[in-house]
Amino acid sequence: MDGTDRRTLLAGIGGASVLALAGGRAMAQPVKPMRYAVVGLGSYAVNQIMPQFANSAHSKLTALVSGTPAKLEKYGALYGIPRSHRYSYATYDSIRNNPDIDAVYVVLPNNMHAEYSIRASQAGKHVMCEKPMSVSSAEAEAMIAAAHKAGRKLMIGYRSQFEQYNRHGIDVVKQGVLGPVRLITAQTGFNASPNQWRLEKAMAGGGSLMDIGIYSLQAARYLAGEEPVAVTAMESTDRHDPRFREVEDRIDFLLRFPSGAIANCVSSYSSGHNNWRVTGTKGWLGMEPATGYDGHRMWLNKDWKTQEVLLPAGHPNQWVGQLDELALSVAQGREPIASGQEGLRDMRLVEAIYQSAREGRTVQLT
Ligand code: NAD
Repeated sequence: MDGTDRRTLLAGIGGASVLALAGGRAMAQPVKPMRYAVVGLGSYAVNQIMPQFANSAHSKLTALVSGTPAKLEKYGALYGIPRSHRYSYATYDSIRNNPDIDAVYVVLPNNMHAEYSIRASQAGKHVMCEKPMSVSSAEAEAMIAAAHKAGRKLMIGYRSQFEQYNRHGIDVVKQGVLGPVRLITAQTGFNASPNQWRLEKAMAGGGSLMDIGIYSLQAARYLAGEEPVAVTAMESTDRHDPRFREVEDRIDFLLRFPSGAIANCVSSYSSGHNNWRVTGTKGWLGMEPATGYDGHRMWLNKDWKTQEVLLPAGHPNQWVGQLDELALSVAQGREPIASGQEGLRDMRLVEAIYQSAREGRTVQLT
């Protein structure tokens, strides 16, 4: 996005609506805090999720589950979690007897998401499950069924749906500022380090698409505001690279939407990408980085001029918005944004993308 005019555009294209996010501060009625047990004390849980409870209005960390006693000791002490609220995987099911736990946040390798989410539902707890929801659509369906049977919520950790610039992008498209959407490009990727579970098919369910490409898929869907009717994919993997013995490196895919809009998406484990752009008949809106942890930037192009979009500071960050959404959805008696159904739609599309690449043909989804 070089060579652009970096004048500030303040909220003039519907920025105020960013604050209307369900997790916004305009809530009048009191909301019962959602008390979470975090399951799996790995990198994302301890570095990104757990520190955010201190910033959230409606979410608390009240229990920990880990297979490593030293981690329970360390993070239990750090977050003031009593020993009675620290669990191993063997004692996990006894969370059902702990009234201080309302929800379980599953931050385990992908192939464990379904099992630990379903056991949490069976223990009568709400579930927040990290992306990808599962390693198959069949597992995702079982997770939805378990939550439904328990009468509890199921939400997926799609943090970008709570990030203010991404939300603003959704609003801008909805308001027709760009005219009818013709093209969405969405690119996500990084150069994967070797020797990790993400490169093992059984644990990860797949390669870059399961891990990072799913952000491209998400962006394409939430920006289009409609569901794709056809998918065409192409994979490119160097099978001599020891990282890619089991999973794919690069898989690019096209989605066709009922309006005629096309999304052109990149997913890579061998190169860095993090951007999206929506182009309509009247202009385009783009972000880079688009789905990172911070530093999001956005540009709007209208009437042959490109301006940077700067939104007001102070909106809850993406993790706080995501964590609090579960409490808000319970208080308001509605399905959460990024519900289990939303995760299931992605899992079905992931399967269609793999099928298209494998069979070398367009897969129709209707
Ligand atoms: P990680 O490897 O750092 O952590 C995984 C945790 O699971 C570790 O604590 C590990 O001890 C535990 N574990 C339990 N059984 C295990 C087993 N059999 N093999 C390996 N680990 C086992 O991984 P991570 O980066 O924290 O990812 C965890 C989940 O969070 C993944 O589903 C990933 O997709 C997701 N994630 C999401 C984001 C995001 O931005 N939303 C970012 C990173 C990771």
